[in-house]
Amino acid sequence: MKLRFWGTRGSIPQAGYSTLRYGGNTACVILRSASGTCVVLDCGTGAHGLGRSMVRDAAAPEHGHLLITHTHWDHIQGFPFFAPLFTGAGSWDVYGPRGIGQSLKDSLVGQLRYTYFPVLLEDPASTNRYHELVEGRFAVGDIRVTTRFLNHPALTLGYRLEVDGVVVVYATDHEPHDRRYGMGIEGDLTGEDLRHAQFIAGADLLIHDAQYTAAEYPERLGWGHSTIEYAVDMALRAGVRELALFHHDPWRTDDELDAIVVQARQRVVNAGGALEVFAAAEGRVIEMGRRWLPTSRLPQATLDEEPQAEVTHAVLVATAEAATAEVMAAAVRAIGLQLLTAGDADLAVVAAAAEPALILLDRALPGGDVLALCRRLREGTQGQRSLLPIVLIADQASEEDRRQAEAAGVTDWLVRPFSPAYARSRITAWVLRQGAAWLSAHRPNNEPRRLATLHGLRILDTGPEERFDRLTRMAGRLLNMPISALSLVDADRQWFKSVQGLDASQGPREASFCAHAILGDEPMVVPDAFLDQRFADNPAVTGEPFVRFYAGVPVHAPDGCAIGSFCVIDHRPRELDARDLQLLKDLAGLVEEELRKGVDGAAETTAQSVLPRRP
Ligand SMILES: [Zn+2]
Ligand SMILES: [Zn+2]
Repeated sequence: MKLRFWGTRGSIPQAGYSTLRYGGNTACVILRSASGTCVVLDCGTGAHGLGRSMVRDAAAPEHGHLLITHTHWDHIQGFPFFAPLFTGAGSWDVYGPRGIGQSLKDSLVGQLRYTYFPVLLEDPASTNRYHELVEGRFAVGDIRVTTRFLNHPALTLGYRLEVDGVVVVYATDHEPHDRRYGMGIEGDLTGEDLRHAQFIAGADLLIHDAQYTAAEYPERLGWGHSTIEYAVDMALRAGVRELALFHHDPWRTDDELDAIVVQARQRVVNAGGALEVFAAAEGRVIEMGRRWLPTSRLPQATLDEEPQAEVTHAVLVATAEAATAEVMAAAVRAIGLQLLTAGDADLAVVAAAAEPALILLDRALPGGDVLALCRRLREGTQGQRSLLPIVLIADQASEEDRRQAEAAGVTDWLVRPFSPAYARSRITAWVLRQGAAWLSAHRPNNEPRRLATLHGLRILDTGPEERFDRLTRMAGRLLNMPISALSLVDADRQWFKSVQGLDASQGPREASFCAHAILGDEPMVVPDAFLDQRFADNPAVTGEPFVRFYAGVPVHAPDGCAIGSFCVIDHRPRELDARDLQLLKDLAGLVEEELRKGVDGAAETTAQSVLPRRP
């Protein structure tokens, strides 16, 4: 893995004598895996120089992945100037947070409008695809990517990259959730800060927001950035090996940054840590390859938790303070969500009836004990609804407050003062985080008969048969797909009569692509699962086996019932032309031929699942 900083500054580019050594360009970092997968992190003004160097370098990759944390200017201003996106025959995949409302593509390409930009680039030679992300995992080439929402006045994602056996975390534009941590962390980490530490845990290289010093922080509460002290303390807690202080304040001179690095290193020494700290500098190159075993002192991370509940687009707000009510209402509506208020009605009753996606409660709600109310709200949320976030709005939150609130079922805090933009991004993250659910296929109308037919074939849980295996082998080979399968959709599972390229014999129906494929008469093709609302958050997309492309032809039993799908899968976005699709249909036709001949009731196999089950 080789990484180079092209822009390290935050907020606004700062050219001049005082920033020569650490650089004046805004955020842009390139990383390449040993096998050549190319990832660019953010597209601040540093992307101008990077793009130019890539266009001039004959050996530069034509295909790349651009991971955008958020659409504040200092992270996208270089986008119109990043030449590889607009010239050459290559193709780029551009990723960023999904948000609610304007699309990622509109936010980025909007900068190319006549008003802002002199050159029209409506029809670039390169083919670019846009992917809108929530929290989850996916793969780009041989790099595994995990995303997590950060704490910033715009919806912002952090990226954790597993590449060549090392972990690089890019977490910029993030403020401590508990603002007291901005002055330095004492005692145990709690809540969202603990989860942030788990996200960065064991990183070989952590590139972290460190815009302010603790002394400057009280003047900049709610601006969405970290202090140097917080970055160092978090890295120490999380067993990080090297910390790059990043997103330097535009007014910070080179000499001041030198002094800050000295202080940060002293902080590490005082804590008895082994962390290496440096300030990211434009042009600095880092190469890593070996695995370093971290000594994280944190509890086990919970990154593999699946998204569970469906999005319901209502936010319940309860506050008696007019200004807060106004800010909340504006924020909720600006995101495009529905605002619910309880008025004089019983909050718990309103919540039970309306099933909101988020509840925001003012800590100083008149007429009762808010924590008791939280406990009652929690009692009303069982099963999937137990993930419902309940957030307290308060002027301050002491450690004791937080402990008691957590015990009462409070998820998080929104501490005053906060800007409308800040409230808006927090609300979006709370809603998306719990609501990022994939869509399970509905049951077909003839489900009882369909299941009776499937079970009547006596094919489920039988052993492998060459006459089916040769067809899945052919599909994989002829269409050049890493995974091919004959999948049968049972009541609660999909079971593979034959599968190539996947070490599993079944998975849960609710995450099954094939359960969708059996609903139609025509083949179902998903060119890019990230771009498909039905599948973007599916655990088979965000985790093993990392489905990006799917094509499945419904397979019918002799009586005409669709019992499963003959399908091919790839880990990258793809298209199938008409001839390839016909080939897949022909092979599926041969599968139906074989089913007509009957099935050997061979020995039962042990069923093993690779797809995670929802609890
Ligand atoms: Zn920024
Ligand atoms: Zn920002």
